[in-house]
Order: sequence, then structure tokens, then C-alpha cells
Amino acid sequence: MSVVESRSPQNPAEVVVRAEAAGAAGVAAAVERAREAQAAWAGANAAERAAGLSAAADAVAGAAAELADLVVREVGKPIAEAKGEVARSVAILRYYAQQVFDPVGAVHEPSGSGLAYTRKRPHGVAGLITPWNFPLAIPLWKAAPALAFGNAVVLKPAPQATATALRLAELLGLPDGLFHVVPGDAEEGGALVDAADVVSFTGSASVGRKVSVAAAGRGVAVQAEMGGQNAAIVLADANLEAAAAQIAAAAFGYAGQKCTATKRVITVGNAAEVREAIVAAVAKLGVGDPADPGTAVGPLIEESARDRVVSAAAGARVLTGGEALGRDGWFAAPTLVDNAPGDHLLACEEVFGPICLVQDASSVDEAVALANGVRYGLVSAVYTSDLDHALDVSARLDTGLVKVNSPTSGVDFYLPFGGVKESSHGPREQGKAAQDFYTTTHTVSLAP
Ligand code: NAD
Repeated sequence: MSVVESRSPQNPAEVVVRAEAAGAAGVAAAVERAREAQAAWAGANAAERAAGLSAAADAVAGAAAELADLVVREVGKPIAEAKGEVARSVAILRYYAQQVFDPVGAVHEPSGSGLAYTRKRPHGVAGLITPWNFPLAIPLWKAAPALAFGNAVVLKPAPQATATALRLAELLGLPDGLFHVVPGDAEEGGALVDAADVVSFTGSASVGRKVSVAAAGRGVAVQAEMGGQNAAIVLADANLEAAAAQIAAAAFGYAGQKCTATKRVITVGNAAEVREAIVAAVAKLGVGDPADPGTAVGPLIEESARDRVVSAAAGARVLTGGEALGRDGWFAAPTLVDNAPGDHLLACEEVFGPICLVQDASSVDEAVALANGVRYGLVSAVYTSDLDHALDVSARLDTGLVKVNSPTSGVDFYLPFGGVKESSHGPREQGKAAQDFYTTTHTVSLAP
């Protein structure tokens, strides 16, 4: 029997959960059970599905404090952000409980005197594969629309977030088999891609690519949301103090472990002032125990992630940070690196931790070229007080999401979310876009 174990990143001696891995056979069995549950769920009327999702939202809201504590303990998320994630999870469930009532098709001109119309039909079993960094919100922003539009769900959470996923499944209180968690890692993820009727993945680019290819090879719908190498451009006319505070929070909040974290800051003719303002903003961030309400920067998820940050900073010119923190757990200081060369890891790859590179441009054109000159395209930000500049730069940034005078991190659950280039593959997540992904269009042409 293979075992999945999660440990607290701030106290690695603490085992949060030890669970039996599902194995490939366990995943196949879960998908079969889900298929039976799905038939009944898809046959339920819209009001019944809405009631199921609303009750699930109430249950998550009722366990808000317990869930936030578990997220802190299992993945080291600072408590303020963990509470925010629980609140967002409740909002997602309530939002999709209402979308159940949205129109599910259209009436078209018939070719003769009859009727032509479309309807949306569920795929069947949705296979969801998720990362550890948003252990509630990401599973739910996939599962809630999948369920709303009549699918069953089999969730393969990241092993580091197993306890949170198992508790979520209990709390949702959905009919047996309809929302099932299969603990495990690559073997279970691969088995789910081989068996599900629609696949939604979030995680690293290397795994996402494999998942997309395997699912597409079976002819099932697939979406993959992957990493980012997100840039924030600070123009000379920006409100520097506000920009610096937002950039520090977006680069180092939750130890930079968000796909939307700011990984690069690009100055445009204001190199010294921007550096000074960000270093000052970083000094104000609370670093330490994630259970402390004043903490913004907690630990990294595991030792190798902490070591990757420290080694990325080694040999570079460091403006602040650059070292591991001498305390229990996998902590690294918020680290700002100065103008590393273009082939440096930090200039071209996502390092998933509290580390951010400052790059200098001599013009807006050069800043845009630097921002776009990476293989990722998830989110970018531009700071300026001039509306023309804001519109011009936003239009030229090659990312799925552009934020103006707001941090790269922070995603509204009702807006379409996803990137371009190697950050994403397939349709957008969240918002109204999810209905299209979790359904197929069924066209009926009816002659009298
Ligand atoms: P990861 O790719 O290591 O794991 C993601 C999931 O894939 C886990 O559940 C894992 O068990 C599973 N998996 C691993 N190998 C597999 C395989 N061969 N087949 C099928 N499944 C497999 O990612 P992670 O470390 O959990 O998360 C961090 C990454 O996620 C970062 O790159 C981050 O940018 C990205 N991320 C992206 C978004 C987004 O919406 N774009 C959001 C959060 C995190």
C-alpha cells in the first residue's frame, strides 16, 4: 500500500495527514462510482442542483474557522489569506448555485417550418487535478461549475494538500460518489486523465503539458492552467508608494507561491526610486508564523522549494533578503534581486517562492518587450497615473490578464481567468466561460 503524507511547512515534524494512495485501480473505481452518481444528478432538476450547491456553500461557511486553520497548518498559508480563501470558496459555490438557472441553449431559425434549438449537456465525470497553493478555491472553482451543469467530480488534489481536500469532500455533503477525492500524485493523476470525460488541470507547466497531450489524445475536452513569470511595469508617472506596497505584497505574500505572484519589476527611467520604495515596502511585511494574523510571508511548502529560492539568489546582486531564515520550517527571506542577466533563471523561469527580479528599461517599448520576452503569459501589471499610457501598455502586454494600478495577484472569481503562451492551454476558467467547458452543445433540428 502506498501512502500519501502531508506535513506542516512551518513545523515539518508535524504530520497533518497520512492517507492511503488511491492507486490507478482506485481511481478507475472512483470514476465508475461517479458515473453512476452523475446519471442521477444530471437527471435532477435545476432547483435541486442549486439546492445541493447552496447547502454545500452553507456547510463550508459553517466550518470557516476550522478550514482556515487546516489550510494554515497543511500548506503554511498566512491566516488572513486562508480566511480570505474560505470566504472566496463560499462565494464561488453560491455563484454557481445561481448559474444553474442560466439559459442552457438558444432557439435558431429552422430550415423549414419546424424548430432548431441547442441545449447544453454535461460531459459525465470531470477529472480535476489541482495544486496545493489554493487547496480550497482551485478545486472549487473547477468543481462548482462542473457540478452545476450536471457532471460528477473526481478530484486528485496535490499530495501536500490531501487533508484539506478530504475535509472539503466531507463538508460538501453531496450525494455519494458525486464529489470524490482520490489521494495520490502522478500515478493517480495519470489514471484520472485516462478515465475522465473532461479534464481540468492546474499546476506546473511541465505536468500540464503532459496532461493536455494525454487528454487530447483520448479526444476529451481539457484545460490546463500553469505557471507565470509575471511582470509589473512601473512608469515614471506612477504613484510610487502605492505601487511599491502592492508589488511587495504581490511578490512576497504567501511567500510568492501564487501563479499570479509578481516575479519581475520593470522600471522605466526611475530605477533608483523604484528600488528604494520596494525595499522600504518589503521591510514592513510581517515574516514568520502563518498562524499569526500579522504575518504576510510564511514558509515555503517544502525544503526543496526553499533551497531553490536561496540558490537562485546565490551569486546575484541582492537588494534585500537572499537567505534562508534560521527557524523551524522552510522559510526564506523576501528576496529582491537586482538586474540579473537575461539568461538568469529569474529572468526566464518561474521560481515558486519569495523572490523577485528588478529589471530596467529605458523606454516604454523596451519595458513591454522585456515583460513579453518570456515563455509564459499569465498576468501582468502596469502602474501609471496616465489613462493613455494605461490603455496603450495594456493593449500590448501578452498576458491573459492585465492589471492597471492593481497587483498581479488577486483574481476575481467571476471574471474569465487564464493565460496565453505556455501559461495556459484550452478554454478560460471561472465566470460564465465555465459553462461552455463543462458541457457539450447538443443541436436539435425538429421538423413538424
Ligand atoms: P505540480 O504540477 O507539481 O502538481 C499539480 C498536480 O498535478 C498535483 O495534483 C500533482 O499530484 C499532479 N501530477 C503530478 N504529476 C502528474 C502527472 N504526470 N500526471 C497527472 N497529474 C500529475 O504543481 P504544484 O507544485 O502542485 O503547484 C505549483 C504550480 O502550479 C506552479 O507552477 C504554479 O504557477 C501553478 N499554478 C497555476 C495556477 C493557475 O491558475 N495558472 C494556479 C495555482 C498554481
